[in-house]
Amino acid sequence: MATRAEQLERLEASVTAAGGQVHWARDAAAACQIVVSLATRHAATEVIKVKSITTDEIRLNNALQAAGITAIETDLAELIIQLADEPSSHILVPAIHKNRTEIRDLFRRTIGDSTLSDEPSALAEAARLHLRQKFLTVPFAVSGANFAVADTGAICVVESEGNGRMCLTLPDVLVTVMGIEKVVPHWSDLAVYFQLLPRSSTGERMNPYTSVWTGVHAGDGPQEFHLVLLDNGRTKVLADQVGRQTLHCIRCSACLNVCPVYSRTGGHAYGSVYPGPIGAILTPQLLGVEDADSLPYASTLCGACYDVCPVKINIPEVLLHLRGQIVERQRRGLGTHPYGAAERAAMWVTGWILQSRWRYELAQRAARIAQWPFVRHGVLSRLPGYGARWSRARDLPAVPQSAFRDWWRAR
Ligand code: SF4
Repeated sequence: MATRAEQLERLEASVTAAGGQVHWARDAAAACQIVVSLATRHAATEVIKVKSITTDEIRLNNALQAAGITAIETDLAELIIQLADEPSSHILVPAIHKNRTEIRDLFRRTIGDSTLSDEPSALAEAARLHLRQKFLTVPFAVSGANFAVADTGAICVVESEGNGRMCLTLPDVLVTVMGIEKVVPHWSDLAVYFQLLPRSSTGERMNPYTSVWTGVHAGDGPQEFHLVLLDNGRTKVLADQVGRQTLHCIRCSACLNVCPVYSRTGGHAYGSVYPGPIGAILTPQLLGVEDADSLPYASTLCGACYDVCPVKINIPEVLLHLRGQIVERQRRGLGTHPYGAAERAAMWVTGWILQSRWRYELAQRAARIAQWPFVRHGVLSRLPGYGARWSRARDLPAVPQSAFRDWWRAR
């Protein structure tokens, strides 16, 4: 992490020496502009895409569409959500929220015929026929990247359908959009990641398709290669002593699969291309906590994500760190919390009461009397005023008629 700047410069030199061209993009708009201008220069009307979560982050498809260029997702799950015009709900399985009958109906409306069955093999065949024709006819491809090796300039894509292999070898022009955190210093480092990634993401010992390429080679693969190195908030994350560990993420999705919040809400609730625990810490750091201040609270802090993370990102620690930033903003009157002032006042009063035994006992007695209109079956199921929204989805145990101190005194 400490030598990332030097690694990126070495990567630029290696890619350039191998015949590729490197572009630096400070933000999403700059990255989109680079890709669109390259596609326009080659008169592309369609581009095929693979491994595209980073391009989802920068909303590249919208930028291409605005320039009259159609982006075609080639990963089966990405294709499904693109045809359905829905956002992804999982890092690894973007269409996990759709069952096969829904996919059959979608394919019948879009790329398949009206007799298509919901057998997985039939659905895969329909997608294969649609995509094969695109692979053979579209000369411009856009990819993401799992890793890039600073020493050699090699770029790596790890996938499981073979669509990546097609995208990375058949077109004439290949543009790779990669976050600057994906660089590794040496070729030998890949050996570690190639073991960690499939085991943590799909439980496989080896990944089915691992494509690695270095620059351009006459008569073999794309004859023009561009690497877009994307910052888009990453250097800001790198500058944060606690938050920077987020950039170690290899997008295996293990933290999503064990998260009790993700498993109840699904990925769309996070409102970001990065759902689950990693999204809850990455998105607020990339956008700024002011634009995603509910995400660090989308966690029970149970720590299951930290237990399974293969690169040991302490997600609960980063969540608490971000919550601290949000509270500090609210304290300074900058937050968007509608009840920020009321919450602060309630906390101040609570602290004042808890500092004194007699104030605490007096408050207990007052609460016993004040609560009676709201108690149903031993719980406070309906609070007045600011508490109403909180109690709409939760029950609070009623203040007992006899406290421990009363019981103790009686004996
Ligand atoms: S935070 Fe860890 S477990 Fe979650 S996707 Fe990233 S590497 Fe995998």
